[in-house]
Amino acid sequence: MKCHICKGKGSIELKHHNLKICEECFLIFFKKKVEKTIKKLKLFERDERLLLALSGGKDSMGLWHILSELNYNVDGLHIDMGFGELSVKTKEKIEELSKILNKKLYIINLKEEIGYDLKELSKFTKRVPCSLCGLVKRYFMNEIALKENYSAIITGHNLDDEATTLLKNVLRWELAYLGRQTPLLEKMDGFVKKVKPYIFCYEKETLLYAIISKIPYSKDSCPYSLNSKNKNLKMAFHILEHTSPGIKLNFMKLFLKNRDFFVPFRERELKDLVKRCIYCGYPTDREICALCTILERSKNEISTGK
Ligand code: SF4
Ligand code: ZN
Repeated sequence: MKCHICKGKGSIELKHHNLKICEECFLIFFKKKVEKTIKKLKLFERDERLLLALSGGKDSMGLWHILSELNYNVDGLHIDMGFGELSVKTKEKIEELSKILNKKLYIINLKEEIGYDLKELSKFTKRVPCSLCGLVKRYFMNEIALKENYSAIITGHNLDDEATTLLKNVLRWELAYLGRQTPLLEKMDGFVKKVKPYIFCYEKETLLYAIISKIPYSKDSCPYSLNSKNKNLKMAFHILEHTSPGIKLNFMKLFLKNRDFFVPFRERELKDLVKRCIYCGYPTDREICALCTILERSKNEISTGK
């Protein structure tokens, strides 16, 4: 197999781009692709202070490396959900990369912050861990970014993640969610801007980037990922991609082109978000925000011995 770029020996085939490529050319190609996305979608500028949410996996760790190589000013934030030995090993990898890149790293420990790790919180609230995980992460990411004056929160969601969420929202016709799904969620009163520079990058590409660049990252999956409902949708998409390479990328690009259609549904929902939580001050549509409501309930259940 010949590399389409340097004509040397290629070892990677990216069917969705109809491209055969060698490892060295892939790194250049992939970096350019990420930078082009940042510029084209106007995600952020070089003079902005950025905060990257780090799970410790190939996506967020690779993105930290790539953005640093592209000279963006990006610090990291990791939220330790309390997965025992797994969390310890993940933190070691994140700290290792933070030293290599010479970037600031914040680590939040859920149990220290709210008194419960994710498993305990799930038990008390009778809610599935994945719904709580998103809620908790969004809350603390926003809080740290506001407190430490970052202009944007970056997440490492790749095309496979985002296309799967999009498919899920389409299957349920969740119009407000569709209006909210974007690689660039502008800042609003109380919420920092949120961006996704890997929006057009296949998982295969983000994995290759992390491996070829020899980036330390955690290969372990979250203990709850096996139960995740999205897994079946992801598999369905893999089958479609196998028979029609590029279908995922087109699905996302065409959605973004027509996204304006769904925005009014999101705006209707936003009109209600004018209150502030009486406990923590977080923007909410109720008196008490979702996280504080959960904590209240958990505390009540402990005191009544349920
Ligand atoms: Fe969070 Fe794990 Fe669920 Fe992903 S699988 S949302 S990391 S709890
Ligand atoms: Zn090459």
